[in-house]
Amino acid sequence: MPNLSWLDAVEARVAQATPGPWKVEESDSLEGWVRLHVRTQYGEWICEVRTGVADNALFIAHAPTDLARLCRLVRAQQRVIEAARTIVCSYKPQDLLNVPVGMHHCPRCGEMQIAGIPHLRDHAGLSQALTTLEREDG
Ligand SMILES: [Zn+2]
Repeated sequence: MPNLSWLDAVEARVAQATPGPWKVEESDSLEGWVRLHVRTQYGEWICEVRTGVADNALFIAHAPTDLARLCRLVRAQQRVIEAARTIVCSYKPQDLLNVPVGMHHCPRCGEMQIAGIPHLRDHAGLSQALTTLEREDG
């Protein structure tokens, strides 16, 4: 199970911030610069951004809704990953190379296995995908 304390912290920050959507409003120009104001949906002023970095204003304005959505998606995907772990057999007959057992039933799932080669039932690569996820976690 991956350490999701970073996600807990992100969710806490999202919950403490004023809910989105926030908006970007163009204001009067100042010395040739158009000023952009980021405000909450209730009109509370968040910050001012000058044009030329308008993408930053959009990034800030969308952060509450984007982060909330990403957190929900990561939690949902984590539930799918944990469910997938329950159907993937962790037995590794490839570790039995040179052990005189030959064909045998997997002691965990009961599928017929051959000593020295990977588990015969891999659920369309699910086992490998979970292994890759575990390596990338962190
Ligand atoms: Zn098995």
